Amino acid sequence: MKVNEHFQNLGQSYLFTRINQLVAAYQKEHPDAQLLRMGIGDVTQPLVPAVVEAIHRAAEEMGHAETFHGYGPEQGYPFLREAIARYYAAKGVEVSPAEIFVSDGAKNDLGNLLDIFAGDNVVAVPDPVYPAYVDTNVMDGRPIRYLNGTPDNQFLPGPPDFHADLIYLCSPNNPTGAAYDREQLAAWVEYALAHQSLILYDAAYEGFLEGSDLPSTIFQIPGARRCAIEVCSLSKTAGFTGMRCGYTTIPLELEYQGASLHKLWGRRQATKHNGVSFVVQRAAEAVFSPEGMAQTRQALGVYRQNARLMADTLRELGIAFWGGIHSPYLWMRCPGFDSSWDYFSYLLENAHIIGTPGEGFGSMGEGFFRLSAFGTPESTRQAMEQFRRLHAKN
Ligand SMILES: *Cc1c(COP(=O)(O)O)cnc(C)c1O
Repeated sequence: MKVNEHFQNLGQSYLFTRINQLVAAYQKEHPDAQLLRMGIGDVTQPLVPAVVEAIHRAAEEMGHAETFHGYGPEQGYPFLREAIARYYAAKGVEVSPAEIFVSDGAKNDLGNLLDIFAGDNVVAVPDPVYPAYVDTNVMDGRPIRYLNGTPDNQFLPGPPDFHADLIYLCSPNNPTGAAYDREQLAAWVEYALAHQSLILYDAAYEGFLEGSDLPSTIFQIPGARRCAIEVCSLSKTAGFTGMRCGYTTIPLELEYQGASLHKLWGRRQATKHNGVSFVVQRAAEAVFSPEGMAQTRQALGVYRQNARLMADTLRELGIAFWGGIHSPYLWMRCPGFDSSWDYFSYLLENAHIIGTPGEGFGSMGEGFFRLSAFGTPESTRQAMEQFRRLHAKN
């Protein structure tokens, strides 16, 4: 038996595993320290009442022989795919329920989708970026080219002067909080059509764009149906990090070398996936109901408020930052530190705040730091007080 040799090329551990280890070691030495978590993007607002009611109803159905559900359709129940299609329609985009695949999360699909792409495709990945894009391709041995995100391009790299087969775009972006406008996305679609490349569009944070006129789905850009797959999640926008539900949209006309990607993915899912739990799909359906949407918007408002307080604090201290408007993330320059891991330790030890070192998102992230607004209002207020106390004296 031989192991997958590409795994040797991975970093020592997944970014958040490494952070958790450092935090656990610190906590062990300082058991009384109250640590404030602004690191991993986990949410704190509970599920909204419309979702909880749907879970109760679905659980009741599962407990009676007449209404019990066993295996469901691999692609997801029509009731949920239709609700998602209506959500797209409200954004002015026509997507048929047949084009939507319900998943147990965006991270899972982002990794699993690689099954249908050749191993020698050239992959273009922004740097800094959500680490799973890079690691999943390293595991398969695909060549990776980086698109540099810098303050000069506001961390929104445009199409490169080289050929790429697969392109990852994430907007609003994790970790930088930056979001592409229509013109910038149109340039990417034009590039992908000219190069016969495929854009993998991660819209996990689309819910944060509400109230702005920035595109919240790549399918708002003409031509995107011929060059893009969109991966979305209810984790960050509806508190589903522990529920596990997302969806992936593959237009029926999306074809490469005469092969329909929709068919390939359908075939892959039918073989390796047995659908998402009925109860979870009923819960997800409730997110898209009028009450669910209104309640979810309110919960997101808490994070927006946190982000506003964090932005005000950084501005007051004169620390340069990006994001925090249509995004739960603030991307800041490490004040007084070149190494973001050194700043991570400094912040942990002196203010008991856990953030995420920019270097963990790619070499271009060195010198930067990510703070998440997913805490409670109380923990955010306290963290910003400690942050202010630490940096005001510098
Ligand atoms: C959190 C996150 C995901 C993961 O979403 P799940 O649906 O919880 O797997 C995907 N993409 C980005 C950019 C994220 O930040």
